Amino acid sequence: MATLGNPRNTIAILKKYNFNFQKKFGQNFLIDTRVLEKIVQAAEITKDDYVLEIGPGIGTMTQYLCECARAVTAVEIDKNLIPILRDTLRAYNNIEIIHDDILKIDLNRLTQERNQGQPVKVVANLPYYITTPIIMGLFESHVLIDSITIMVQKEVAERMQAGPGSKDYGALSLAVQYYARPEVVANVPPNCFMPRPKVGSAVIRLTRHKVVPVLVSSEQRMFSLIRASFNQRRKTLVNGLNNASEIPYTKQQITEALEKMGLPANVRGETLTLEQFAALSNLLYNATSA
Ligand code: SAM
Repeated sequence: MATLGNPRNTIAILKKYNFNFQKKFGQNFLIDTRVLEKIVQAAEITKDDYVLEIGPGIGTMTQYLCECARAVTAVEIDKNLIPILRDTLRAYNNIEIIHDDILKIDLNRLTQERNQGQPVKVVANLPYYITTPIIMGLFESHVLIDSITIMVQKEVAERMQAGPGSKDYGALSLAVQYYARPEVVANVPPNCFMPRPKVGSAVIRLTRHKVVPVLVSSEQRMFSLIRASFNQRRKTLVNGLNNASEIPYTKQQITEALEKMGLPANVRGETLTLEQFAALSNLLYNATSA
């Protein structure tokens, strides 16, 4: 039975192992059963599912996951947490604990081996200092994913959901929305964690698109265009791209492509939709690789 969501039991485990929180690993443990239930519910986990948990901490959410899923792999970087996890998860025979850095693991191989190439569900209360590399790593490595249900900093959840014209709209919004449909499931205040983080948090579910929403000749080229456009937000798109060393197109090529799309030469990148970035990328790529 899941027992750790209760703060008293969490404190007892921390004391038993004389555990010291490591700030550098973004350790804020969940101590609210309603939030834990909400995350597991939003992830729609069934006994058919293989779940990858990133950063299990002392195993609070892992207990819930083990009860709902067929099998769970939990990857934890802090070696001091491994004996604790072996203790708190000893009642479950469907858990595998891996002591490693999630950013260094070959996730394609892991999920292929453990789930025979079937889509996996990722669930995590993420360490906030590496939210973006974790999410982008999951998407860009083309691991077969069904959904990613994660706790992130509230502002990051807002950026993932933002559309053109909003101040939160940027490269992360476009990357997430290219791969998945984002949906905020809950806002979570600092008092649901131990220790309390300085920022508000939100649970967001990213449901992987079955078919990509736009077709691009080169994903890599489109994302370098997107990154370069938002690196210089205040500049026009033409100037922003022209100033970026990684963009191989001339001012004239960019202006001509925008003209073909019916966009003014002084348009800013932050007003373009994903479809427009894809169209621009395809026009430039096809014009120069012909
Ligand atoms: N899941 C637990 C909970 O909800 O109580 C802990 C969440 S805490 C916000 C983040 C966890 O991720 C910590 O246990 C931390 O040690 C772990 N972590 C940090 N960086 C990591 C990395 N690169 N790879 C794997 N785990 C990491």
